[in-house]
Amino acid sequence: MCLQELLFVIIWNTDKECNRRRIEMKIILDPGHGRYGNPYPPQKGFYEGTQMWVLANYLKEELEKYGFDVVSTRPDINDMPSLYARGALAKGASLLLSLHSNAPQSALDTKPTGSVVYYSLEDESNKVLADMIGNKVSEVMSHYYRGSMIKVSPKGDDYNGVIRSAVKNGCTRALLVEHGFHTNLKDSEFLISNSKLQKLAAAEAGIIAEYFGFNRNKEGEAMFRTLRYGMAGEDVEFVQKFLALHGYYTGPIDSSFGPGQGFLNAVKSFQKAEGLTADGVIDSASRAKIFEIILTGSITDSAQMEELMSKVSKMEIELKKYVEYFRLQTELRMGIEMQIQE
Ligand SMILES: [Zn+2]
Repeated sequence: MCLQELLFVIIWNTDKECNRRRIEMKIILDPGHGRYGNPYPPQKGFYEGTQMWVLANYLKEELEKYGFDVVSTRPDINDMPSLYARGALAKGASLLLSLHSNAPQSALDTKPTGSVVYYSLEDESNKVLADMIGNKVSEVMSHYYRGSMIKVSPKGDDYNGVIRSAVKNGCTRALLVEHGFHTNLKDSEFLISNSKLQKLAAAEAGIIAEYFGFNRNKEGEAMFRTLRYGMAGEDVEFVQKFLALHGYYTGPIDSSFGPGQGFLNAVKSFQKAEGLTADGVIDSASRAKIFEIILTGSITDSAQMEELMSKVSKMEIELKKYVEYFRLQTELRMGIEMQIQE
């Protein structure tokens, strides 16, 4: 990490402190079907509705470790709400994830394997998250990823009822994950094992946390990510605020890079104006430029100046801590060197 990035971390973290909040993100987990939904007799005791409920419980636990607020559409294994009721829970949520395992037209066809993730036709930017989850699930289940897909109903809206309902309730980031085929021996052996489902849940939670920028290093600092179209998180919101303040962006401050081209175009115009490559990707060069402007930008508004000054004083406290840390480290190293010389 270079000095510029270190300073950026401080600004970024104090900015959040000023807001006195961390973005709260609610995730709805929807284990498909009911308790005895979709049995597969050749795999004794297998019910898609039960195994997905088990997976959802592990996933809830793993996601909560990252600080997500998680709600299940089936808190009790015997719950079986309608598809509409499941989707309706997604009101105000950042993500709805419906958990399933697949079966071919004929359950006797045991060959098909591989995972699929469906996303809403209302938001093409969600292919990014669908790809991330689908590839991760397929990697853990040791089969190939069949791909991220949109399924359209004859009426022209989303085919999957849960996705359709979530969208109707304002949550377009609604995905349905088919975790392999329970009609495939290898896949169903995986899906019936609790310890394997637990491992799968940890991997899925990890990739979701990565997508939302919720993964932190040991010191609790924000990790630096390259931000591109289709991503979401606190860091996206930070750049949205920055570009809005500087007149490049007029869209919603919703921490989502997409859907639509509004924020993407704002990033490109900013890059163009600053002599950077106008590719719409916020990499280290764009980040450094944002940092430079925050520190040196001319601010005429007194309220803004006051806000900036409060940030600067907080930054100074943080900087002192770092300076102290490096001083101690240097002393320690010199002490060791002196001992060696003696
Ligand atoms: Zn299903």
